[in-house]
Amino acid sequence: MRLVLLGAPGSGKGTQATRLKEHLQVPHISTGDLLRAEVAAGSKLGLEAKEVMARGELVSDAILLGMLEDRFSRDDTRNGFILDGYPRNLAQADALDALLGRLKAPFDFAVQLECPTEMLVERIAGRAKAEGRADDSPDAVRKRLEVYTASTAPVIDYYRQHGQLTVVDGVGSLDEVFTRILEAIAPVKEVG
Ligand code: ADP
Repeated sequence: MRLVLLGAPGSGKGTQATRLKEHLQVPHISTGDLLRAEVAAGSKLGLEAKEVMARGELVSDAILLGMLEDRFSRDDTRNGFILDGYPRNLAQADALDALLGRLKAPFDFAVQLECPTEMLVERIAGRAKAEGRADDSPDAVRKRLEVYTASTAPVIDYYRQHGQLTVVDGVGSLDEVFTRILEAIAPVKEVG
């Protein structure tokens, strides 16, 4: 199963991706996690990304694509993947199509977790207390939501126009949302 998970910050993508990874036995590729690992390691890339991320802005497309190509060159992605946090703008959507095209591994589903904005803000505020992520400050959260509306929402429209989008209601318990995702990605075959 090759899945692209889409959704605003706080939509629950990361949490659901962790569950899906166990269920589907495919790697969870989170570009946010990959970047945070670079920041923690203090690599050149991490140093470049750190401030941009703390402001809630997008790290450059070139850095992201390099990181993604590197990750997809590993054998574990041959059985499938859950991509979380990419693509975040139309240029990245094109780059992903090209990359997966080269690998002859187009995604099966782009799943959007849909949540009302008030709920996103509430969830992130709760997480900010628990985890203390640098980009969960009120200013950075506002910026991340703005970036989502301006740059990532067009990706969702693009997939919708191309008949590649599956929308899942992200409001409910973790179990409820998880079940909805599994239903959405179950192959639907009507006999007769
Ligand atoms: P969230 O979805 O909660 O905003 P992520 O962990 O997915 O969190 O991303 C955190 C930050 O990492 C983003 O705000 C951005 O700065 C950077 N980032 C992650 N993925 C991308 C991407 N595809 N393109 C550019 N920047 C990215």
